[in-house]
Amino acid sequence: MTKTACNACAFYEDHVANSASTLSDSGLCRANPPVTQKDADTRGFWPVVKSNDWCGQFATAFAAE
Ligand code: SF4
Repeated sequence: MTKTACNACAFYEDHVANSASTLSDSGLCRANPPVTQKDADTRGFWPVVKSNDWCGQFATAFAAE
């Protein structure tokens, strides 16, 4: 049985792309586009999630193309 947790999800990325700082036991969720673009000339941020969290979009693989 697959463990339902962000760090076992196909959309989880186990490194920090939002900034130079690193949060322990955290990664990025790439299930949806980046959010919270503060200014027009800045980029959005990927949601940061805890490795042992989860949501209803949990997936073990990407859908077939
Ligand atoms: S928040 Fe949901 S979709 Fe994103 S990594 Fe966690 S389980 Fe996967």
